[in-house]
Amino acid sequence: MEEEEAIRRSNALEKDDIEYLRDDILDEQYLFEGVKLTDAEEREMRYKKKIYELVKKRSEEDETQSEYRIPDAYDEEGHVNQEKRFAVSLQRYNLDSAGDKMNPFAEQEAWEEHQMGKASLKYGSKNKNQSNDYEYVFEDKIDFIRDSVIDGENLDELHSELPDKSKEKSALEMLQEERKTLPIYPYRDELLQAVNEYQVLVIVGETGSGKTTQIPQYLHEAGYTKQGKVGCTQPRRVAAMSVAARVSQEMGVKLGHEAHCTSEKTILKYMTDGMLLREILSEPNLESYSVLMVDEAHERTLSTDILFGLLKDLIKFRSDLKLLISSATLDAEKFSDYFGSAPIFKIPGRRYPVEIHYTKAPEADYIDAAIVTVLQIHVTQSPGDILVFLTGQEEIETADEILKHRTRGLGSKIAELIICPIYANLPTELQAKIFEPTPEGARKVVLATNIAETSLTIDGIKYVIDPGFSKVKSYNPRTGMESLLVHPISKASAMQRAGRSGRTGPGKCFRLYTLHNYHKDMDDNTVPEIQRTNLANVVLILKSLGIDDLVNFDFIDPPPEEALLKALELLFALSALNKLGELTKVGRRMAEFPLDPMLSKMIVASDKDKCSDEIITIAAMLSVGNSIFYRPKDKQVHADNARMNFHLGNVGDHIALLRVYNSWRECNYSTQWCYENYIQVRSMKRARDIRDQLEGLLERVEIEVTSNLNDLDAIKKAITSGFFPHSAKLQKNGSYWTVKHPQRVHIHPSSGLAQVLPRWVVYHELVLTTKEYMRQVTELKPEWLVEIAPHYYQLKD
Ligand code: ADP
Ligand code: MG
Repeated sequence: MEEEEAIRRSNALEKDDIEYLRDDILDEQYLFEGVKLTDAEEREMRYKKKIYELVKKRSEEDETQSEYRIPDAYDEEGHVNQEKRFAVSLQRYNLDSAGDKMNPFAEQEAWEEHQMGKASLKYGSKNKNQSNDYEYVFEDKIDFIRDSVIDGENLDELHSELPDKSKEKSALEMLQEERKTLPIYPYRDELLQAVNEYQVLVIVGETGSGKTTQIPQYLHEAGYTKQGKVGCTQPRRVAAMSVAARVSQEMGVKLGHEAHCTSEKTILKYMTDGMLLREILSEPNLESYSVLMVDEAHERTLSTDILFGLLKDLIKFRSDLKLLISSATLDAEKFSDYFGSAPIFKIPGRRYPVEIHYTKAPEADYIDAAIVTVLQIHVTQSPGDILVFLTGQEEIETADEILKHRTRGLGSKIAELIICPIYANLPTELQAKIFEPTPEGARKVVLATNIAETSLTIDGIKYVIDPGFSKVKSYNPRTGMESLLVHPISKASAMQRAGRSGRTGPGKCFRLYTLHNYHKDMDDNTVPEIQRTNLANVVLILKSLGIDDLVNFDFIDPPPEEALLKALELLFALSALNKLGELTKVGRRMAEFPLDPMLSKMIVASDKDKCSDEIITIAAMLSVGNSIFYRPKDKQVHADNARMNFHLGNVGDHIALLRVYNSWRECNYSTQWCYENYIQVRSMKRARDIRDQLEGLLERVEIEVTSNLNDLDAIKKAITSGFFPHSAKLQKNGSYWTVKHPQRVHIHPSSGLAQVLPRWVVYHELVLTTKEYMRQVTELKPEWLVEIAPHYYQLKD
């Protein structure tokens, strides 16, 4: 077992790491001399030695022997070689479904991709050949092979059901009529009867049949909201907000703040599954609810899975509580079995046949291929909107830009193409745009993340372009490291995506991969999040609910035991649990914050150094993600200069974020200030929201808001108190070694410390792009580690 683990870890290392690894071992021997090590620490030392031997041996072996490193998916010019990327990532997906982090194909948001200049950005050359013939407006063309057809069902009488728009009607009346055209409508009474009869009901229906928007309204109309709220959970915030907006429109009421409303008048509440999970903390019996609908259950997010376990228990005590589990077709039997053979209510689908096309050969760059396909459809295919699945905001913005560029100047040569992006950070005003009907003669192309797979339904889509990738979180329980990776989707996802094109008429799906890839390389189903994520947060929540026996918790699919142990270990290291695994006072306080435990710990620890004011700002800024700084392609130098201003004195990225926020606050939260400094206003607004929430929570855990802006060391120490497990030490070649596990990492080029290279650093997160990068980095003093976490790091006397 240890042998295997050592081999595995040594595979992650390069031969030239050997010298640093040896230094590391010597250093540690010095550090730990005379100190009694725990079993785990001893094992770790043994690992390191073993790994050292393995790497050394390997370096002595035949140089031509194949390296263990995964071939780089970037060519010399820095362009993504998608073919490699696809083949290799598929292979890894099969070999090691969850944890492996040494996959170099990662987040598209990575800044260094800008640096390298993505292949797909060379769009200038693509539209030089402008002929009058539509077909030849665009030079590029992709050959597809038509394959299977997904059969349609229930096609009769569709058009006659469409609302009669000829008569003058109020908007509300129109909406009410539209509601009656949804596939779920004919089953309204039957459904209500089933809800009345059974406590738990599994509801299955195609995406777009009206589950999310209609069922809570039906329940309200049937009087369920008299006894309490009807709650409906969504895996994603954007979906919760969009659906809540739609429903309040249909009901003719004003929308409460952010998809939910805490005033007494709330009757329907759309929220994320994570929000409901946190609500259970303050209201364990959920007395204020009469019905709960766990929607999009097939997505199997971590929070949904945990809710399953908690709700299954809760319904035993609350016989008056109705529980609905709704899902887009898949896994219904499994949910039913889990909830004691709960009845399954099927809403017959309304689906037209969908023609599936595959590429003849793997595509080298899927963004480019997707764009070419959009334009190809636009000029050759009959009217109907296009839906393109991309993996994230960065890709969507890139594609948006390229599409605009390529169609610009074509004027009347082609019909108007309306481009609508949709992703999590998109401002709400712009989200509404995707639902606006397409004007006659124009065509809409929606560039979406996975959110359009099942959570959001956009009417009028006739063509789907599916590159076959999505961004998934992956976690390595052995090292405790987590990252977002671009992964091939599952067959189930591919079918869902294709199905989006057949809702209002026969559709076509263009898959940017080969039939062979589909059959041989894609998994049948997506691995539930619980089996590929860091569980520290969930363990903390369960512990604070008094659930101590985690191994025997009734998970619908249990997480790997190793991941549970790792979570317990981390919480122990953060002093959230004591040696007996019981929640400590620190842990209880940490659980109040809806944040990752390391962030919560940093906040709780800031009390000691009297810098809670600064720390909650930093936590809020970190929570927003990497969308604070804006870097327009034509003003990169200006943007970089503006950014470096916040880094003066090499204070590190955390303090830089703090300075950004404070400067914005000093300017009275000015939008103009953001423009001038290349800061994204909406990210800042979100940070402000989060910060306000955190400030409220500080009061709850009785921590005073105190500012200690002049003592940067105090702030850095508080950061270290939460993030000491993420510390790394500089090596001779400018790379770093993570302290606890021998993993080679680098400072991300976007960091203010990328050129500074301090000897010791703490980092916020690791991202894998071309290399393993630490993002958001701050310098630390090694003696802090010993002071803050003596049980984790020890110094020789
Ligand atoms: P399901 O949950 O079964 O997938 P929904 O209730 O989400 O179905 O969708 C039902 C219908 O409501 C769809 O036709 C969809 O286009 C429409 N709809 C949903 N959200 C919005 C919105 N924000 N704006 C306009 N139409 C919407
Ligand atoms: Mg839905």
